[in-house]
Amino acid sequence: MLRQVAEGVLIHESEFLQSNAIVVQGRAGVLLIDPGVTGDEIACLANDLRESGQPVVAGFSTHPHWDHLLWHAELGAAPRYGTARCAATVRDRLSDPGAKARVAALIPPDIAEQVPLDLLGLITGVPAELAQIPWDGPRIRIVEHQAHAPGHAALLIEERGVLVVGDMLSDVLIPMLDLNATADPIEDYLAALGLLEGVAGDVDVVVPGHGSIGGADQVHARIDQDRAYVHALRDADVASDPSGSFLDKLIMVDPGGHRRYL
Ligand SMILES: [Zn+2]
Repeated sequence: MLRQVAEGVLIHESEFLQSNAIVVQGRAGVLLIDPGVTGDEIACLANDLRESGQPVVAGFSTHPHWDHLLWHAELGAAPRYGTARCAATVRDRLSDPGAKARVAALIPPDIAEQVPLDLLGLITGVPAELAQIPWDGPRIRIVEHQAHAPGHAALLIEERGVLVVGDMLSDVLIPMLDLNATADPIEDYLAALGLLEGVAGDVDVVVPGHGSIGGADQVHARIDQDRAYVHALRDADVASDPSGSFLDKLIMVDPGGHRRYL
């Protein structure tokens, strides 16, 4: 079931972790951002779009984690994009023959059988200097930052007042730092929140990858809340645990988080 959250922007919510697939209407069809999780629900979305005469003309993955890289044959063969760094990360992590089995092992067992991995991660990188999605529809600015995952992208649909934030600014998940690919996940996360704050001025709707859609008041409230959390994490480490590494501390705070992903 598609639900409109702004003119020409619709959401399809998954039962898995309140994951949001985002549909943006363009001139000749729709852009699909982070299509969903189980095969049935993505096929249902494909069916809804087909029945309303809206072919999928492009796809976009906000970041290189399995639950944002899925696709279904019924969506068709539109070009799929991510940031150049996201695409390079996917290529790197999925290049060996054992990659899909490794990904399958990360998926919660109760839905593992239902997640279609055939077309996992077949994305092309958008050159960083382009900074927008190449498609025939409202301009969608790519706000790339290094938090949560390499090449993570927020997407600003300026003329619709919508900010799509991937796995940032969720009201159901705590801030999840990227512990694999960065030397200073805390500072990277704070820098990313600053970037989001910088583009949030005219945003009426914030769409997280997991959780509730927020209104204008929620954009800044969620940024403030997540920043306070990350500050507390940083300060707690310095004050109470001079011998422990950031990594150990973060793994304690988010058990399993560092290996939950692709
Ligand atoms: Zn993620």
